[in-house]
Amino acid sequence: MRLFAATLATETNTFSPLPTSLESYKQSVFLRPGEHPAETPLMCTAPLWVARRRATKEGFTLIEGSCFAASPAGTTNRADYEAMRDEILEQMKAALPLDGVLLGLHGAMVAYGYDDVEGDILERARAIVGPKCVIGVELDPHCHLTLKRVDLADIIILYKEFPHTDVVDRAEEVLDLVLATLRGKAKPVMSVYDCRQISSYPTTLPLMRAFVDKLKGLEGKDGILSISVAHCFPYADVAELSGRVLVIADGDKAKADAMATAIGEEFVSMRGKTMPDYFTPPSGVKLAIEANATPVVLAEPSDNAGGGAPSDNTTILRELLAQKAENAALGPIWDPIAVRLCFDAGLGAEFPLRFGGKIGPRSGQPIDATVKVIGLKRDAWQSFGPTRVPLGDCAAVEIGGVQVVLIANRTQALGLELFTNLGIDPTQKKVLVVKSTNHFMAAFGPIAKRVIYIESDAPLSRDYRKIPYTKINRPIWPLDAETKPGLIY
Ligand SMILES: [Zn+2]
Repeated sequence: MRLFAATLATETNTFSPLPTSLESYKQSVFLRPGEHPAETPLMCTAPLWVARRRATKEGFTLIEGSCFAASPAGTTNRADYEAMRDEILEQMKAALPLDGVLLGLHGAMVAYGYDDVEGDILERARAIVGPKCVIGVELDPHCHLTLKRVDLADIIILYKEFPHTDVVDRAEEVLDLVLATLRGKAKPVMSVYDCRQISSYPTTLPLMRAFVDKLKGLEGKDGILSISVAHCFPYADVAELSGRVLVIADGDKAKADAMATAIGEEFVSMRGKTMPDYFTPPSGVKLAIEANATPVVLAEPSDNAGGGAPSDNTTILRELLAQKAENAALGPIWDPIAVRLCFDAGLGAEFPLRFGGKIGPRSGQPIDATVKVIGLKRDAWQSFGPTRVPLGDCAAVEIGGVQVVLIANRTQALGLELFTNLGIDPTQKKVLVVKSTNHFMAAFGPIAKRVIYIESDAPLSRDYRKIPYTKINRPIWPLDAETKPGLIY
């Protein structure tokens, strides 16, 4: 049995002022065959990593393709996308004959000229491997689950958890199902229910937690092989953006239809009940300063690099300074030039630094202040579940009662190392501000005595009605009050 695995992934915010190029992939994941590290999977590479570990025991030959992944940002450069795609397709062609293909994709990647990148990759892959080859795909729930992909792949499984702590578990399931299909032990058939809705669904909140636990309980029995829920990725102007439910049943399409409909209707009934409350910067900061708890974690989803935001908005920092916050820390602010200036100044130096507020109109104004350099670290990283995320060179500066972490490699707040790398102990901070939507909860949830979510003026608004879509299929909630959810595949 011969299986091929590869990754090409990013999450594209088509409204972001930061284009994505080959350089962005080189900064995150850019690995040729055989170069993938043994210890942990990287962004979207779990299918290859899992297959490598199981190949000998399961009796198949794994042919490794390239793995390319970039931090979420704007649309990917067309020539760069085509070069990475064609490299993987050439490797696939050279690996023929193939019984199976495992693709670690994201599901919300857009390149100039390609609104459905994953559909394009699958179309070309299918043309190479033929109709009998079993194609299994792992996607992020913040994806656009287009019908083209469902048509072209045999098995699609999405992570269930948000924060995405289950990327390895779901990749194991993709491989399980691909192998079961090849061994004649399963006949996957897929159904999709379109919920016609845009929202956010952290699984750390009670309603979504219960929903995901229920889905897990329904899998593996009564002919249901897998249930996935596409949350959707709201910050992209593509036609098929929507919350969707995907069910894989064993040979019984009617059963998949019925389950997708039942779960889809339940997901529709959860509209408006899955997001936390959001505070304004002044009220959220005031609440945190006055709270009788340490640390209070303030989350800023609107400037989440993980959703394609620049992560250099300064509004909450200004508010902390205006309200004279003491023993506070904030991170990360992406500003490679400020990081370099801090390294030039040296540890312990006090000097005038301008930082943040640069990349777009919703970055706010830069901060101009005399800062003290309190921490420097070259080539730092932070952990996220079982994976390591590079931060590049990092610097920490102190202004008044606030310590600010500046990073060179744009990414969101995920692991405590973001602060500890620079000698800041996050457990001892009264107020801890993290730029992240909900992934921070994996590491910061356990140390937080209280979590407060702030909607700032940074680009990722939680009010989806404010996003200037032009291509999205309508009607869709909450842009339209009346919608027509239903089975579409
Ligand atoms: Zn995601």
